[in-house]
Amino acid sequence: MKVLVVGSGGREHAIVWKIAQNKQVEELYCAPGNGGISAIAKCVPIKAMDIDGIVNFSKEKKIDLVVVAPDDPLAAGMVDALENEGIRAFGPRKNAAIIESSKAFAKDLMKKYNIPTAKYEVFEKSSDALEYLKNQKFPIVVKADGLALGKGVIIAQNLEEAREAVINIMENKAFGEAGNKVVIEEFMVGPEVSVLAFTDGKTIKPMVSSQDHKRALDNDQGLNTGGMGTFSPSRIYTKEMEDYCMEKIFKPTVGAMNKEGRKFKGVLYFGLMITADGPKVLEYNARFGDPETQVVIPRLKTDLVDIFNAVIDERLDVVDIEWEDNAAVCVIMASGGYPKEYKTGYEITGLDEAQKDKNIVVFHAGTKFEDGKYYTSGGRVLGVTAVESNLDLAIKKAYEGVSKISFKDMHYRKDIGIK
Ligand code: ATP
Repeated sequence: MKVLVVGSGGREHAIVWKIAQNKQVEELYCAPGNGGISAIAKCVPIKAMDIDGIVNFSKEKKIDLVVVAPDDPLAAGMVDALENEGIRAFGPRKNAAIIESSKAFAKDLMKKYNIPTAKYEVFEKSSDALEYLKNQKFPIVVKADGLALGKGVIIAQNLEEAREAVINIMENKAFGEAGNKVVIEEFMVGPEVSVLAFTDGKTIKPMVSSQDHKRALDNDQGLNTGGMGTFSPSRIYTKEMEDYCMEKIFKPTVGAMNKEGRKFKGVLYFGLMITADGPKVLEYNARFGDPETQVVIPRLKTDLVDIFNAVIDERLDVVDIEWEDNAAVCVIMASGGYPKEYKTGYEITGLDEAQKDKNIVVFHAGTKFEDGKYYTSGGRVLGVTAVESNLDLAIKKAYEGVSKISFKDMHYRKDIGIK
């Protein structure tokens, strides 16, 4: 079998790493991939957003399965384009990926189908949004409708900050077209849990839970980032919550998408806030999360290609998905300065030494491989994942791995998994 994974981050490295364990996969490609992925798959220099390039390459190589991992190509219809050419693709079609690419769509869906979420209003004109803000309680949350690399959400502490956010998004177009609409939402309080789930549009099978740390510095200080670390399972997500979410959130979401004529097939990611009134949906993503995938996939016993195929063929109900009864922690090692400006091109050492331990795997994000050496090439550079029988041991092990790795100006949080 020939498989192509689209994307280039730590998430894609984790997916490729798992797929590589399937004996039936004879040829494994990643477009464009990264330094670490190039050790286990053939990286091809096609950008993740180059739909024609991916379709042509898949036809030429007779790829049996394409896995589209990032949000942008899903929102742009890469899966539709592949299917139109008769190529098997894992991921939602464009009309279903909208659950992530339009927050206004997602909120309206939840309201219509009674799925628990924060109260909100959608605005298409900044003047209406500004008028509405005059009579609200603060803090309040202002969100650009479209994809904004995780930066389109502003928690405004007062009217002035909220007005500034609306003007920035809708008038100054800080996130381009993503700011044609805004969602203004009630501020909720509580810990956050991520639950990724496989669904074929009929059956939904949640993966093990996880939690991420978004801020750049220890104790949740500093700027928001793409994620500085994750752990799985969540310390707070109980069996009762899981049952509640299944009945009130997961199944209703899949059902709602069907009723809207937007059957969702792929990975549906539920960003949940555990409020005093129970779990509520903060956001949906139409794909595997990054860096959640780096702690969830290493705990998966079942073959990932089998699951992808079952989702595509809509027979997920007969697949038994099994998880290890253990825990995983992923510590992100970033370039100094990230998420602001940073330099790249520094040599990375100690990768082999860290991975001598069979319970440690290093997933690469911003790295390249040249002349037998790895160099930094992005903001988030590596995700050091450790798997152990419990979270405390996994935390300890992950930091043992981190201590062996080095590159100039590296930065990582020292408190991953501890909150
Ligand atoms: P991501 O980086 O996960 O893609 P995103 O841009 O899609 O983020 P959201 O997940 O909707 O945005 O929001 C980002 C973060 O903002 C949440 O993880 C949460 O911490 C905070 N947040 C969002 N909505 C609310 C809310 N209604 N109340 C309190 N906090 C919120």
